[in-house]
Amino acid sequence: METVKYLLSEERMPTAWYNVVADLPTPPPVVLHPGTQQPIGPADLAPLFPMALIMQEVSTERHIEIPDEVQSIYRQWRPSPLYRARRLEKALDTPAKIYYKYEGVSPAGSHKPNTAVAQAYYNKQEGVKRLVTETGAGQWGSSLAFAGSIFGLEVLVYMVKVSYNQKPYRRALMEAFGARVVASPSVETAAGRAILAEHPESTGSLGIAISEAVEIAAQHEDARYALGSVLNHVLLHQTIIGIEAQSQLEMAGDYPDIIVGCTGGGSNFAGIAFPFIGAKLRGERDVRVVAVEPAACPSLTRGKYAYDFGDTAGMTPLVKMHTLGHTFVPSGFHAGGLRYHGMAPLVSHLLDLGQIEATNVQQIETFSAGLTFARAEGIIPAPEANHAVAAAINEALRCKEAGEAKTILFNLCGHGHFDMQAYTDFQAGKLKDFEYSAEEVAMALAGLPSVG
Ligand SMILES: *Cc1c(COP(=O)(O)O)cnc(C)c1O
Repeated sequence: METVKYLLSEERMPTAWYNVVADLPTPPPVVLHPGTQQPIGPADLAPLFPMALIMQEVSTERHIEIPDEVQSIYRQWRPSPLYRARRLEKALDTPAKIYYKYEGVSPAGSHKPNTAVAQAYYNKQEGVKRLVTETGAGQWGSSLAFAGSIFGLEVLVYMVKVSYNQKPYRRALMEAFGARVVASPSVETAAGRAILAEHPESTGSLGIAISEAVEIAAQHEDARYALGSVLNHVLLHQTIIGIEAQSQLEMAGDYPDIIVGCTGGGSNFAGIAFPFIGAKLRGERDVRVVAVEPAACPSLTRGKYAYDFGDTAGMTPLVKMHTLGHTFVPSGFHAGGLRYHGMAPLVSHLLDLGQIEATNVQQIETFSAGLTFARAEGIIPAPEANHAVAAAINEALRCKEAGEAKTILFNLCGHGHFDMQAYTDFQAGKLKDFEYSAEEVAMALAGLPSVG
């Protein structure tokens, strides 16, 4: 493991985020009001988000400055290290060079604090007292809980019930940072009560938990909603990953031929890839970019590019995205952070433009790749990150077959220290692959709202 982190002095940490919208050949489709289906404006989002974040959501500026206070918090763990995976290269016997950016060094153990800190900062600036959110595996909830504790904001987290029961230590982490955690669906909201009335045994989904959080945020003047992925401003905050990687690779005298990232809502993928895609869109440097998702939740590879709600109850604005349908409830595979029915509109748009590729992998292959990686590099990846590891390994093996010494960069978006039960189950042969049938795809898509 060879780090190039320390070639990059702290002063070289980026001071601006990169907005890919500035370089797109065509703008992303407009966002629609859930009731009127008319394009929404900034004022429509004001009950949910502070105005600074809404302005970032609709910005077309190429660079947006990172506030000093946010920079100073980032410096606790940023620049995050970029490693050359020499021992993994050797284990695979590949002529390819493999680099990975490691986001597991953050306080919550993933890339999510990059946006949590920024969101908490802007909310605090505008006088908000409480942040309400949802979390699946607990990565986002613990990141927002951490950020809330720094800025003195109350944090309320609706945690998908299956994870609430399976991941007591993620819950404990959120509570340690001072957040209140509620299992979703809950009886605290109309959305939660409606689901429970119909399915008393419901183990929840991200879509349901989002409905609950949005409902509470919209009802309280001092509260706002915070989302950990999907939205333009979230992807924007994550671009610090790719900007750092550009400087670090420059110092290493390299440039990626292939970039790989896993996609749940698309934020860590966008974070590492968008700055490089910008260079490609401006005609400076070509690169192949691959998004990897679970075969059991294949929004990019098998979903439809259509207008859909971000939540199950249909309270959020309608966005055009690759979606499996907002009523989709994923099977209980382990990469909780990748179990979302939709994909970031910007990532969906780039796929539609042919600027990125998408692929999917099965759960067992991802854990097998994760162990190969851990035994070579000494880091246990999060189950979500294992999807990127698996695809990066596949690319490296393809290079071996073709005898090509390509440079591969992937985002190791988090560590798996809170996910060891999944590794134990894998080693005991208890994990299953989930094939999502064509009938199930069609059924969930039948519930798409008709727009236009
Ligand atoms: C939340 C999470 C993801 C999925 O979200 P994206 O927005 O697609 O990045 C992936 N990996 C980890 C470690 C996460 O915490």
